[in-house]
Amino acid sequence: MGIEITESSQAQVGIVTVRRALPRRQRRTVGAWCFADHLGPAEATPTRGLDVGPHPHCGLQTVTWLTQGEVLHHDSLGTEQLIAPGQLNLMTAGRGVSHSEEATGSYAGPVEGIQLWMAQPAATRDGEPAFEHHAALPEVDLAGGRASVLVGTLAGTTSPARIDSPTMGAELRIDGPATVPVDPAFEHGLIVLDGAVEVDGAVLTPGHLGYLAPGPAELVLAPEPSARVMLLGGLPFPEPIVMWWNYVIRDRAEATAAHRAWLADDGRFGTVGSALERVVVDLPPWA
Ligand code: MN
Repeated sequence: MGIEITESSQAQVGIVTVRRALPRRQRRTVGAWCFADHLGPAEATPTRGLDVGPHPHCGLQTVTWLTQGEVLHHDSLGTEQLIAPGQLNLMTAGRGVSHSEEATGSYAGPVEGIQLWMAQPAATRDGEPAFEHHAALPEVDLAGGRASVLVGTLAGTTSPARIDSPTMGAELRIDGPATVPVDPAFEHGLIVLDGAVEVDGAVLTPGHLGYLAPGPAELVLAPEPSARVMLLGGLPFPEPIVMWWNYVIRDRAEATAAHRAWLADDGRFGTVGSALERVVVDLPPWA
């Protein structure tokens, strides 16, 4: 059993090229992590950026982390939050929330980052929506570099961000061989944002997901010659999830119900104060 490498798919979101590491047919989830889009880099102007208009979510938490640039988040809770590198936006959808990601009105320059979703467990997925911004996150010194702990715990250091199931996520910035202690009960995924890293005899570069099954108590990473890497981990998610569009649900009927609510604008997903248009797609083919 070694590292499993899957290639990301490519998509276009506004002006931004996206490398989608999760979900892929071969690998749907890593712990509760069920979606991972490496965004950019793309050139933003004060009025042109990600430009993702209001759209709904349920049953998941979104994690937004930038490596370059600035983005403005709006949501149906009334949040208006600028995010910059080193900061975390964490939105909990629960039974329903909607949001947009926009140009800031002032920032011009490159934008790059990653957006991740964590599936919520049965205990919280029908709960209230919520939003957290963390202006700074705890850091860990590693031999060979440093890590920012976005969610959960790395090397005894725990993020203040909310998690709903046993999950961790960290950004590693390494310029020398690094040994990273991990929970042997967790499965892990590695997504290189910049540079390259050798792990378990394979070289990982941007545009791929490296998956490691539960078992190891440490990961040995050798950057070539430096790397910025997202490390995602968690207990294998115990509930079978279904993903359709922006919803993490349990079956097709739930997807249909959620999407009818969004199309009818019946209040389940609230209203976002945004100049951008609501994102609307057709009902699922089975509806
Ligand atoms: Mn979204």
